[in-house]
Amino acid sequence: MFTQNGNFIVKYNMKKNIILKFGGTSLATPESIKLVRSIIETTKNVKAVIVSAPGKSEKFQMKVTDALILAHVDKNKFNFYIGYVKKVYENIIAGLGIYFELEYEFEKILQTYRNNNSRSFLVSRGEYLSAKIIAKFLDVEFVDAKDIILFSKNGKILKKTYKNIQKRLKNKQNVIIPGFYGSSIFGKIKIMCRGGSDISGSIIANSFKRSEYQNYTDVDGVYDIFAKNKENGTIIHRISYKNMQFLSFYGCNILHYKCSSVFTKGETIIKNTFNSKARGTIVSSKFELDSNMISSTLGLQIEFDEKDRKVKSLLKKLKHEKLYSFVRMGSVFYGMRLSVNDYNDRVFDKLKARIYNIYDIKVYAIIGDISVWMKCIKDKGENLIIQFCNENKTNLVYML
Ligand code: ASP
Repeated sequence: MFTQNGNFIVKYNMKKNIILKFGGTSLATPESIKLVRSIIETTKNVKAVIVSAPGKSEKFQMKVTDALILAHVDKNKFNFYIGYVKKVYENIIAGLGIYFELEYEFEKILQTYRNNNSRSFLVSRGEYLSAKIIAKFLDVEFVDAKDIILFSKNGKILKKTYKNIQKRLKNKQNVIIPGFYGSSIFGKIKIMCRGGSDISGSIIANSFKRSEYQNYTDVDGVYDIFAKNKENGTIIHRISYKNMQFLSFYGCNILHYKCSSVFTKGETIIKNTFNSKARGTIVSSKFELDSNMISSTLGLQIEFDEKDRKVKSLLKKLKHEKLYSFVRMGSVFYGMRLSVNDYNDRVFDKLKARIYNIYDIKVYAIIGDISVWMKCIKDKGENLIIQFCNENKTNLVYML
């Protein structure tokens, strides 16, 4: 293109840098990995692909990361858990029909672990092997997260990380990077918190101008309640980073809550590997903090342990109400979505009448603006003590 006086203007390349991230369920079986391949191949301008360790599948009911943690903790069963992890990868490699030196990789891993006894090192190997296998399967480059993502002594992402990523990925496409870990300033592997591969993806996306972060999960998007269950929830297609952070912090585990502060300059799109045509949820700072969204999702999630006898009979009585189940910390809980409007109606009163004398009402999470709830309950002249827990199960007690 030329200006009027004939100077040549370099046509600005508006190409986006697409960062893809796939969660554990998407990487658990050869079949799901083949879906991952077709998504990568049909997405234009993929700069990097961040992968998790294999999650649960029908055949393998334990996440690889959990097995590795247990191997580190329970030395008596070390061989058992390592054997399990090996079988997960053997199954994947056989199903993909690739040649991969798994024995050699395991020997190297075990040798290093014998020397350093590092929990972070061992636990990070789930993502490491996943990324190596996917890179081999797609015949593309593997870049180790330990060489680019750096943490300070107190676990903060060092600024140098972004420079490292820009430099290492310059002029590259389709690079496979393991999520969930990086390294300390002393060069030691350091894992992030659980679900940390989401954060790795945000870090990589934040390193580039004009980037878009597509986070592939096993749900069609963010539901307006915590359940994956379509009957009880509707998908929110557009959400602000602030609202997303709020939902994530209080239990919605689709996107790690830290992502909403790491990458805000572009959009994060939550998509489903198993239904990639679905619109998904776009998270963007362009969207206002949406009070409509907040009030429509305002709800309390109340925790019942189904093994409890009293709870069983309560659930029977509440059979006709819209209860949904969710699994947390190995137990099945039942929750009920309550909105501000429901508060005044019989559902909440009924629930309260039934459980108030049995238990203190223990709210696992609250969706929506807490001040609206406070006002709503105060207006009714109630005097409830509601216990809120954050993700670390630290109780935050509110007198309403
Ligand atoms: N594999 C790790 C976990 O299970 C990290 C991740 O999947 O994001 O928490």
